[in-house]
Amino acid sequence: MNVKNEIWSLICRGRKKKIVLLIVILIFLLNAMLYVSFELYNTIKRKNANPWFNRLQFDKNSYIDDKGMRVIVGHYMGGGPGRNLSRDVINSNNYAPVAGAGEGGRPVQLSPREIITARELYSLHSYNILVSDRISINRSLPDMRSESCRNVEIDVENLPTASVIIVFHNEAWSTLMRTVMSVILRSPSNLLKEIILVDDASDRLYLGRELDEAVASLPQVSVLRSAARAGLVAARLRGASRAQGHVLVFLDAHCEVTTGWLEPLLDRAGSDDVFICPHIDLLSEDTLAYTKSVDAHWGAFSWRLHFRWLIPSEEVMLKKVENPSKPYPTPAMAGGLFAVRKSLFWRLGGYDEGMRIWGAENLELSWRAWQCGARVEITSCSRVGHIFRRHSPYKYPGGVTAVLNANLARAATVWMDEWADFFFKFNPSIAAIKDQQNVYSRVKLRKELNCKSFKWYLDNVWPQNFFPSKERWFGRVKNGRGACLGAAGIPGLGGPAAGIACGQDLELEKLIVYTPEGRIMADEGLCLEAGSGRVVWRSCTRNESGSKQMWLQVGTQLKNRENDECLTLVVGSSDDGVGDPLKLRKCVGGAAQLWRFDRVPWR
Ligand code: UDP
Ligand code: MN
Repeated sequence: MNVKNEIWSLICRGRKKKIVLLIVILIFLLNAMLYVSFELYNTIKRKNANPWFNRLQFDKNSYIDDKGMRVIVGHYMGGGPGRNLSRDVINSNNYAPVAGAGEGGRPVQLSPREIITARELYSLHSYNILVSDRISINRSLPDMRSESCRNVEIDVENLPTASVIIVFHNEAWSTLMRTVMSVILRSPSNLLKEIILVDDASDRLYLGRELDEAVASLPQVSVLRSAARAGLVAARLRGASRAQGHVLVFLDAHCEVTTGWLEPLLDRAGSDDVFICPHIDLLSEDTLAYTKSVDAHWGAFSWRLHFRWLIPSEEVMLKKVENPSKPYPTPAMAGGLFAVRKSLFWRLGGYDEGMRIWGAENLELSWRAWQCGARVEITSCSRVGHIFRRHSPYKYPGGVTAVLNANLARAATVWMDEWADFFFKFNPSIAAIKDQQNVYSRVKLRKELNCKSFKWYLDNVWPQNFFPSKERWFGRVKNGRGACLGAAGIPGLGGPAAGIACGQDLELEKLIVYTPEGRIMADEGLCLEAGSGRVVWRSCTRNESGSKQMWLQVGTQLKNRENDECLTLVVGSSDDGVGDPLKLRKCVGGAAQLWRFDRVPWR
């Protein structure tokens, strides 16, 4: 009995031990699981707090400035869907609207798990397709116009009619259809003659019959299809040649128009001498939230002819304050969104048919418009949201660089005169292919239209430009300590100035313009300015802070106009001054205040 009991209690103890052990292991596992999911959730949440593009491909091609404008600082890198996506995934349309999602232009947030899927699918369109598929193609948007715009009275009965032309290549079904529906929902039906969709040889299955069926019930909409991919220029020309309305209105395939968008465009385009652009707002590529972009902006370009949004000149700003609803001139258009009287579009030569796929057509059209007697303007009263993409999602036959360079070479050769020499000199790889471009008919057009020079354009349309010229000195400014002046490495908005390595003659980012008035300008419209405590690179300005941007050459010194102190490469951590700060100091001479001007021929 005793023995039996002992054995029994042993077994019992053993069992208890096992159960206790099991419970301990279970608790441990549970904790570990909880910890892991908590961490995962936190990482995703943390990452989600950053803009979408920070989580994806990291490069320095764009940033959001302090006013919320997307500033694109580089050219696109062409892509194509990621390798690991199956044909089924690439070709499927998963539009499944969720009630209320994105209504009123509000952002759509995804669960952590969905965010992972959205990231995997990002390469398909370079925006969040999961979010797009969840928002109704008829979603509501608030009236984005300012009070003054709402009060403008337009004689709607007497406006010309519009043919809206939307070209697309492999766009998402929901995004494309939302563009179309927003136009139908928010355009007066008597003004909307038609919507012409031009399919630039998309190969996604859902853009075939499925799209035809979707638009079959929309009498205003027709679809033209190109057999071979040619690019947006050929596609827009095709759409334009079919248009029945008085005014051509071009939109990208990932836009949403808001209340009252069409009337101001038609009102202005009616006058037959203007390419009128809407005010482009932002549709977040992450959440599709509609946000207003900075109130006044204009389009221009850098030394390498990359499109840029800039702050308009003071003159334009003043006029805007006086009359906020009046359209204002811009040196260049962004490209995808504008309206023009059909007769003017064709009279000025449509588009350059030699331009393939994407790029530079917006600059070519803008220069042609201005130089040949028309204008390019923006009206703040027409508000259209556009998904600005950081990366081009589609393929560029022949490679993105070759395509873009060829288009840039065409535009520069035909329109830029001496500044074409400047562009080619500092972009030898583009210079190398320029002779392969036959621009005979475009040069002939320029002659026939009796167009003005690029100098006229720079002097009159964009006097605030930062290009070198006959009157403006161009080259390298070298300090007695060794380093040079330059805004290299500083993004478009500027920042504290420091000595930079002097570099070679062809390194544009290390060269500067010195104007007769005393401005020291770098690319991107940056001027050297006496900041408080430190010298900085800032947007060039002509207003009261202007004299802080004026530097007078006194002997070998550079004296600031505002305070009579000298530009000094303060001794810091380096021997030659590279990376050392630039400051204003009493003019005492010496190597740190000595600036030697090395001219570099700019053409
Ligand atoms: N597009 C096209 N064919 C091309 C490249 C672009 O039809 O080979 C269309 C594209 O679908 C879009 C418009 O042209 O509707 C403008 O292109 P994108 O939006 O990529 O230019 P971005 O707005 O980024 O400058
Ligand atoms: Mn676009």
